[in-house]
Amino acid sequence: MQCAGLVTPRGVSKLAQSSVIESIRGARIHSPLGFILRIESRKPRAHVIDRRSHDLALFESAVDAGAEPLLGTRLQGIRVVRGAVEASVEAESVGRRIEARMIIGADGHRSACREAAGLAGARHMLRGIQVELKGVDSDPDTVDIFLGKKVAPGFFAWSIPAGDLTRVGLCTWGKEHPPASYLRKMLRRPEFSGAVEVSRSSGKIPLGPVKSAVGKGIMLVGDAACHAKPLSGGGVYTGIKGAELCAGVASQHLKDDGETSLHAYDDLWKNSFGTELVRAFRIRKVFLALSDSKMDRALRMFDNPDVRQLIEERGDIDYPSALSKNVLKLAPKLAQFSPQLIKSLL
Ligand SMILES: Cc1cc2nc3c(=O)[nH]c(=O)nc-3n(C[C@H](O)[C@H](O)[C@H](O)COP(=O)(O)OP(=O)(O)OC[C@H]3O[C@@H](n4cnc5c(N)ncnc54)[C@H](O)[C@@H]3O)c2cc1C
Repeated sequence: MQCAGLVTPRGVSKLAQSSVIESIRGARIHSPLGFILRIESRKPRAHVIDRRSHDLALFESAVDAGAEPLLGTRLQGIRVVRGAVEASVEAESVGRRIEARMIIGADGHRSACREAAGLAGARHMLRGIQVELKGVDSDPDTVDIFLGKKVAPGFFAWSIPAGDLTRVGLCTWGKEHPPASYLRKMLRRPEFSGAVEVSRSSGKIPLGPVKSAVGKGIMLVGDAACHAKPLSGGGVYTGIKGAELCAGVASQHLKDDGETSLHAYDDLWKNSFGTELVRAFRIRKVFLALSDSKMDRALRMFDNPDVRQLIEERGDIDYPSALSKNVLKLAPKLAQFSPQLIKSLL
């Protein structure tokens, strides 16, 4: 399980509410040069979940609803045959074929389904690493985000309270930046000294945006579709929302004997969160171009009571670009970092 478990309330499935460990109201964003931007909302803006129990609850609900799980079974390949799709699977070295009217690929960043569908892969593949620490004195309702090319080049580092534990991790972008070496540096910070590491995990986050998540007889959801959010790396909300939309199209397609095209799913996810992925990816490009000192300056510009109040009252981790117009009105000097971007967001 590779996940920091930070999800907006709308991103926690109704079927898995018991997986919530903490509710988050605030954030401290640490600039590369030591400035700290503090954001504090009155209402919880995110939950910290136990991803294992969250996914298990979804799995059990699926089984209760009639899904037949084939545990320990690996998908090897897919081919299209006579208007249907045929999956080759293998369990304990025994192979077999399963014919179906469609396949929904929820098989993560290395998706074999995506490959079979001939769809585009990630534009940026982040590499992440995280430890769970015991003994950190952290605020139960506040997360820390650390920015900087020496901290986590191409992304950011985090410290997230999770009950008795604190999840400390980061992602980097680029082969020349192995995340483990940045994590070693991160763990030398005074707030983590003396803490005990109880678990460690690593994984990848595929960032899009992609043009389509539909191939012949195949639909993709979650990381397979590169639906993780470009600014936060979060993929749980878009995965669950995409799955709901995909399931609607799949059941309609089966009911009306193929009248409903699977491509209807593309329109639905794009309307729901696809536009946000495109806008957020543009903002990511500006973020990547900022030097540490520019990032520090930009963060200080956010430290204006009106901007902070706007973010505290209306900020949304799932749709961060929605506020860009209003933020720029309140802090027009931010436009200096990328006039082109500003034009494309307004
Ligand atoms: C370090 C890190 C921290 C993160 N933190 C957060 C966070 O705080 N909040 C958030 O929202 N998101 C976070 N994410 C992203 C989030 O974890 C992913 O977006 C999410 O797990 C994607 O879910 P998924 O079901 O699409 O893919 P996955 O969770 O990758 O699941 C894919 C499944 O398919 C199976 N599979 C793959 N290939 C095959 C095959 N050939 N045959 C059979 N089975 C196969 C895999 O075993 C796996 O079970 C984080 C990611 C990382 C790496």
